[in-house]
Amino acid sequence: MKRYKALKIRIYPDAKQTEQLNKTLGCSRAIYNMMLHERITVFEENKDDRQKLYGYTYKEVSAYKKEYEWLKEADSQALAWEKVNLLHAYSNFFTSLKGERKGEDVGFPKYKKKKTKNSYTSSLVNGNMAIDFNLKRVKLPKLGWIQYRDQRTSAEGRIKSVTVSISTTGKFFASFLFEYEAPVVIKKAITDTQRVMGIDMSLSDFYVDHEGNTPGFTRNTKKYEDQLAKTQRRLSKKRKGSQNWYKAKHRVALVHEEIANSRADFNRKLVTELCSKYDAVCIETLSLKGMSRALNLGKSVHDLGYAAFVSRLKQKATETGTNVIQVDKWFPSSKICNNCGYKNSALTLKDRTWKCPNCGAELSRDENAGKNLRNVGLDMLGLGKPSKLVEKMLVVGIPVPMQSSVKQEAHRSLAVG
Ligand SMILES: [Zn+2]
Repeated sequence: MKRYKALKIRIYPDAKQTEQLNKTLGCSRAIYNMMLHERITVFEENKDDRQKLYGYTYKEVSAYKKEYEWLKEADSQALAWEKVNLLHAYSNFFTSLKGERKGEDVGFPKYKKKKTKNSYTSSLVNGNMAIDFNLKRVKLPKLGWIQYRDQRTSAEGRIKSVTVSISTTGKFFASFLFEYEAPVVIKKAITDTQRVMGIDMSLSDFYVDHEGNTPGFTRNTKKYEDQLAKTQRRLSKKRKGSQNWYKAKHRVALVHEEIANSRADFNRKLVTELCSKYDAVCIETLSLKGMSRALNLGKSVHDLGYAAFVSRLKQKATETGTNVIQVDKWFPSSKICNNCGYKNSALTLKDRTWKCPNCGAELSRDENAGKNLRNVGLDMLGLGKPSKLVEKMLVVGIPVPMQSSVKQEAHRSLAVG
C-alpha cells in the first residue's frame, strides 16, 4: 500500500540562492496570473458560445515560456505545477458552487499577489533534488546544494516532490514529499471497552473526554496570548510603514509562528498518545463553518485548531489501526442524560452543569457529551450493553447514528440484547 509523508525542514540559502528562489516564486506567480487571465478573457469572449468555449485550447506552459523569455530563469517544474494549481482552484470553485465541496466553500480563483504567493512546488525529475542527511544539505532544482538544520537522520521511501516556502517571518523551508510502501494496517479489534474513549470538543479546554479529563492545552496558550497582546500593542503605537513599524510587525509574526509550532507539536503528541492508549476514539462530526457562524464565535473555534487535530487523528489512526468513530453531527450529545437517556431540550449553551429531571443525575455538560459519544460509539461497534440511550432514542424516534461498516454488527447486537 502506497503512503505519503512530508518532511519539512528549515533551509539556509545564501544570497545568490535566495535571489534565484525569489525569481522562481515571482515567475510562478506571473504564469499563474497569466493563465488565469487567459481563462477569464476566453470566458468573457465566448460565454454565449458554449461549443467554442468548451472546445477552446488554452496555451501550454511551454508557449508562455517561448513568449516570455524571462520565465526560463525559473525552475521549470515549478511553472508546470502552476497549471495544476490553477485547475485545482477552478475545480474547488465549481464543487463549492454545487455544494459538493467537503471543506470550506471556495470562491472564484484570485490573482496571486506577492503577499499571498509564498511557496512553489517542484516534482522530482532526473535526480534534480535530494537530501544528504550526513552533510545536512539538500539539493533543489536550479539552486544546487543548500544547508539545512534538523534533527532527523533518515526518511523512509523516495522523494516525489518538494515545496519551497517562505514564512511570514522570512524563514525558508523545504517540505519533501516521500512515497513509501506501507503494510496494510489491520484495524484493532475491540475486546476491552476500557480502551474505547469518547471526546467532546470544548472551547475552553480543547476537549473533554468521557471521564471528564482535558488534554491540558490551555496553559501554553495563556503564555502566548500575553506575548501576542504585548507585541500587538507595541505595533499599534508605531507609525504605519515606518522602519519601527516593520520591526514590530515582524515580532508579531514571530509570536504567531511560535503559536502555530506549539499547536502542531501539541497535536502530534496528543494524537500519538490517544492512538496508543485506546483502540477506538469516538468523536463528533463537526461542521466548524456552521458552528462558528451559529455561535458567532468568529475565529476562536478555528484558532483552537480542532479541525487540524481531527485530521491528524485520522491520519495516525490509519497508521496504527485505531478506530475513529464519528458520530453524526445532529446527534444531541450534550442534551441527553448519559445515565437514563432523557433528552433535555431546554439546555442552553450557557448551562455548564445540569441535573437530570428524570433520574436526578448531576451532569457536567462536556463530560456527559463525551460519555454519550462513547456510548453511541460502543453501540456502533456492537459492544457492551445496547445502552438505554439507544433504546430511548429509538423509542422517541431520534435516528440512531450508524456507520455503514459497523451498522450490521450493531443491529445484530441490538437484536440480541
Ligand atoms: Zn437521567
